[in-house]
Amino acid sequence: MGPPVMTPSEITVPACIFNALRNELGNISGKRSSSKLLQKIGYRAGSSASTMFKEGLDSEILETRQAVFWAHLCDFFSRRGWGKLVVNSDHPKLGFLTSNDWAEAMTAEVDQNASCCFSTGFISGLLSEIAGSPVAVLETKCRARGDTACKFAFGAERAVRELFGQLLVEADPNAT
Ligand SMILES: [Zn+2]
Repeated sequence: MGPPVMTPSEITVPACIFNALRNELGNISGKRSSSKLLQKIGYRAGSSASTMFKEGLDSEILETRQAVFWAHLCDFFSRRGWGKLVVNSDHPKLGFLTSNDWAEAMTAEVDQNASCCFSTGFISGLLSEIAGSPVAVLETKCRARGDTACKFAFGAERAVRELFGQLLVEADPNAT
């Protein structure tokens, strides 16, 4: 008998898995590459989650009814225990997803370098798969760093890169 066939399905695990993954990967490969790894794993999980996301949603809604689409997205995450998201899609190039109770940000102590890496990858994978083209995601604020909310910016890679550059300049007190 061969191995069981891989089909898209979901399981529920305790949210502390994020902390455990971060710590264990950090021990093996250092903080920087563990963030990258978590993001990559998140991306693959997010792409795969698009199958569950699309269930019960007809393709017309995905393409034409933005408000319904975003409500579905918020519902998708909150039902699964990720946290409550607020969407801001008014900006022409970038959208923002904000949450003040995001599960991945739960941490015992504030770490200035912390970030919801898995979620960043997950949202990118999910939105890219639904959009049929790459959607980049950058977490600009994070509760694990002591911010009041986690804020994910998303958009085409170029727009997100520009935002990243802007944030670096803002964060550097020596920049002119
Ligand atoms: Zn966060």
